[in-house]
Amino acid sequence: MNIASVHPLPPHIHYLNGHLCMEECSLEALAREHGTPLFVYSQAAMLNALGSYQRSLAGREHLICYAMKANSTLGILQTLVRAGCGLDIVSGGELERALAAGVAPERIIFSGVGKTRHEMRRALAVGIGCFNVESRAELDVLDSVAQEADTRAPVSIRVNPNVDAKTHPYISTGLKGNKFGIAHEDVVATYRHAAQCRGLRVVGIDCHIGSQITQTGPYLDAMDRILDLVQAIESAGVPIAHIDFGGGLGIDYNGDTPPAADQLWQALLDKLETRGFGDRKILLEPGRSLVGNAGVCVTEVLYLKPGEQKNFLIVDAAMNDLPRPAMYEAFHRIVPVAPRQDAPATWDVVGPVCESGDWLGRDRTLAVQAGDLLAVLSAGAYCMSMASNYNTRGRAAELLVQGEQVTVIRQRETAADQLRLESLLP
Ligand SMILES: *Cc1c(COP(=O)(O)O)cnc(C)c1O
Repeated sequence: MNIASVHPLPPHIHYLNGHLCMEECSLEALAREHGTPLFVYSQAAMLNALGSYQRSLAGREHLICYAMKANSTLGILQTLVRAGCGLDIVSGGELERALAAGVAPERIIFSGVGKTRHEMRRALAVGIGCFNVESRAELDVLDSVAQEADTRAPVSIRVNPNVDAKTHPYISTGLKGNKFGIAHEDVVATYRHAAQCRGLRVVGIDCHIGSQITQTGPYLDAMDRILDLVQAIESAGVPIAHIDFGGGLGIDYNGDTPPAADQLWQALLDKLETRGFGDRKILLEPGRSLVGNAGVCVTEVLYLKPGEQKNFLIVDAAMNDLPRPAMYEAFHRIVPVAPRQDAPATWDVVGPVCESGDWLGRDRTLAVQAGDLLAVLSAGAYCMSMASNYNTRGRAAELLVQGEQVTVIRQRETAADQLRLESLLP
């Protein structure tokens, strides 16, 4: 069976002589050497995904801030930062990671609804480029923190454009009923207020309407609403230097057909031009679309457990490694690393964790035996960065491949690593 002909594999992943390879590396060889579960990322895939955004924005003032919560491993950050990205952070921890990866502080923007005073102080001290503020209350706290530090915090206000991104409710963020951003009708008053705060310096406006968006329409709608707001804010006397359209572009998990980044941006830039905002600096915060399809998780089949109602394939990766199926019922393709010619059966692919929610794929047609390796595809985003130690399972190792070159960017976590911060009772 030729799996690749049924549905094309993500770029830079292919079968060679019956073995799955990423760029020029055999995943079987990598798994034998580094163990499983194992995350492997293609540098070329990430750079190509970034290139699509860069091409469309070439010649225009812009900054692509990779939303590092998608995958915040230092080697991934370095790859994207060296290729020209700034970073979008959502916590003080991500700020330290961003700095450790060598990004220039002024190329960092700080998103998130719950920044603490402590996080604000640190971000001000290192000189980040912008705080994306999400509420009036946060604006006032930031103003006071900045005044105490005798400085002005660069701010953008995240507005909620109230458009339906037509995605999973947990990852839709631009509708009225969710916790993100400032309501459309309060935006101008909030900007007027911000402009009068001695600890603030208004630099932009931002929005982020959701994640895994596969249509262009919601972006165009959001842009129209944002541009209406920019007009209103500037009429009220507050200039807006940059417009930040957030992230959210989807990837192909299971035959999804999101627009290519350059096509989406061509349409968005046309609208900017038409509406007379062609000169504005553009910021973007893509996460998933830069790294999602660049990664796979290689896992070993531990046991076959055929049953009356269901056949279970028990593998050594679990919900702690790859939480998206358990968390969002998300679909990840699962393919054999070395396909067998035997007759396939239908399996639920599950992990060893003591939860019924610990599954990676349901009703998958696979010909497998114990000891075989499987690759869970599209595992570059929101997998490792969401991994936990549930069941005291150490987090997986991570490799970055570039042609035939392999770099260990994270070692496998040991039990000793996990016990390090705990103390026994006296
Ligand atoms: C998560 C997030 C992003 C990135 O979203 P993707 O769907 O991964 O592109 C960008 N901006 C903000 C504010 C976010 O919360």
